[in-house]
Amino acid sequence: MTSTLLRGRTLSFVRWPETIDDHSAWRYEEDGGLLISDGRIVASGAYHDVEKQAGEGSKKIDHRPHLLLPGFIDTHVHFPQMQVIASYGAELLDWLNTYTFPEETKFANAQHGRRIARLFLDEMVRHGTTTVAAYCSVHKASAEAFFAESHDRNMLNIAGKVMMDRNAPDGVLDTPQSGYDDTKALIKEWHGKGRQHYAITPRFAITSSPEQMEMAGALCREHPGLHMQTHLSENHAEIAFTQQLYPRSRDYTDIYEHYGLLGKKSLFGHCIHLSEREADALSESGSVAVFCPTSNLFLGSGLFDYQRFRRRDKPLRIAAATDVGGGTNYSMLRTMDEGYKVIALNGEKLNPFQSFWQITRGNAEALSVADKIGTLDQGTDADIVVLDARATPAMRLRMETAQTLAQELFLLQTLGDDRAVREVYVAGRTAKSDMAN
Ligand SMILES: [Zn+2]
Repeated sequence: MTSTLLRGRTLSFVRWPETIDDHSAWRYEEDGGLLISDGRIVASGAYHDVEKQAGEGSKKIDHRPHLLLPGFIDTHVHFPQMQVIASYGAELLDWLNTYTFPEETKFANAQHGRRIARLFLDEMVRHGTTTVAAYCSVHKASAEAFFAESHDRNMLNIAGKVMMDRNAPDGVLDTPQSGYDDTKALIKEWHGKGRQHYAITPRFAITSSPEQMEMAGALCREHPGLHMQTHLSENHAEIAFTQQLYPRSRDYTDIYEHYGLLGKKSLFGHCIHLSEREADALSESGSVAVFCPTSNLFLGSGLFDYQRFRRRDKPLRIAAATDVGGGTNYSMLRTMDEGYKVIALNGEKLNPFQSFWQITRGNAEALSVADKIGTLDQGTDADIVVLDARATPAMRLRMETAQTLAQELFLLQTLGDDRAVREVYVAGRTAKSDMAN
């Protein structure tokens, strides 16, 4: 087995960094090495120590002076929305009805699904994202297309066909029974195949009847190890309509609670306008609130209260995500730049170490996959991003005055995008430079 030895400035997190000086929260090697064999990191640390463990035949790749980090993780994204991103002038419900639902009807065509799945994962890799939790369309074929493409690339991805049986055009509706049957078949075919994970995906309470919510709950009970992903408390009109549809529920979260959808592997997109009771229910169940800053700003939905959610007596587990196509950029760097601004509007700060923790180890922990991805630890999968803080003339100029790692990271987040991503490794294989452009 030939191995690969990467050299560069390695950065990986051990835990949440409390402050900018909380050095024991991360591991940084100015001259770091990563030894990769069979898709895994088999040694990690100072280059000269790691080099000793590499065999004679190891392929050496020197990425100095660039940074090597774990590949970025996007915890909420809609792959069928590549052709609605950047659609003008709507809030959530209009945006869905005017742009998104008509677009998603195209995914009844399997060939269209395969084309977009390929272009979507290309775009993710170009931006340094090596894992996503993705919504497919309602069509079984869209999930098949996504998983086939993901499996071909040996990416660790989580995805599911959305379940939706009302309040949308016929072309994007299933039924409680067909949604259940298709989900069952997809789990059987794809979950655990290579690095693929299935997520049970009722789109949200507005587009699922009580009968379908029952079915989603049944699927979660029958497959307790699986992820569940949906949307929660994104905008006021959505919340009001949801309450009308489920008049007996105490609040929006209570609907999902009632059907048994809360839990440690449950991902709730947005969570902007939660009551204290709802936040308590999410916290007590270990559910994850997913922060989607570019989407929340673009659709005018509101400001996710990141630091308060972290600090409350019953803290929330938090993930960060693009939410493309409501989100406006595929890059997790751009996402955290906007995230920083949302947090600033709430009168708080997110320091650069916290930001990079969030899109690597933090998101891996939120997805319960930190034993496999999100760090550069020995024994984990070799999903790695190579970042260049001098990628553009403006970045190069600004780097002349950056003196610390914290400043460099903040510059990467504030000015960086796909141009700052020099290379990406997926399970040890170069993925960005191999891509045909
Ligand atoms: Zn979404």
